[in-house]
Amino acid sequence: MGEGVTNMNTAKEEALTEEKWEAIVGNDASYDFVFFYAVKSTGIFCRPSCKSKVPNRANVRIFRTAEEAIREEFRPCKRCKPTGERLPDREWVDAIARYMERHYDCAMTLNMLAEMFHGSPYHLHRTFKKIMNATPVAYLQGIRLDKARELLAQTNISIAEIGSRVGLPNPSYFISLFKRKFGITPYEYRKRIMGTGIWTQGGAFDEK
Ligand SMILES: [Zn+2]
Repeated sequence: MGEGVTNMNTAKEEALTEEKWEAIVGNDASYDFVFFYAVKSTGIFCRPSCKSKVPNRANVRIFRTAEEAIREEFRPCKRCKPTGERLPDREWVDAIARYMERHYDCAMTLNMLAEMFHGSPYHLHRTFKKIMNATPVAYLQGIRLDKARELLAQTNISIAEIGSRVGLPNPSYFISLFKRKFGITPYEYRKRIMGTGIWTQGGAFDEK
């Protein structure tokens, strides 16, 4: 609990009034530089006129200046350039990678990410690959398979359930991706871990 107490620190933050919300929904350029809005789930902030998808209202934070949004570690949107400058590619890709790390269990497509992070799917794919040396899909699957490996080693959750918990709900697809990456099936992996005793010693049933 204790959430909500942190609101004490956000003195510079303005309320999301009905007027501001309507300006965001209506992409109203007359509010540009009157206020900025940031989206908590993506870590990006925009001008009210930004043509991006309307965010979830519960995730919106309002700032009077771009500097205040930046101080709270939001990054400027690539599309509407709220600071008048282009967000460096590396920062943009970092934000996308962090989003994947937090939401790997959700269904995610390149188009969704492109829309959320305000770039074209083609540009996102190319820029991500250039900076991360992996395509967005490969990067996301890597996160998912590492999480799956952790769950196999530390819990007794079924293999199908683990697949769906890491965002790979089709069991045969999950198993074949796992095998391609680690060279053994999830079942074999778990058996091997249990055989070494690591699972029983440090597993999920450890009460510490
Ligand atoms: Zn924007």
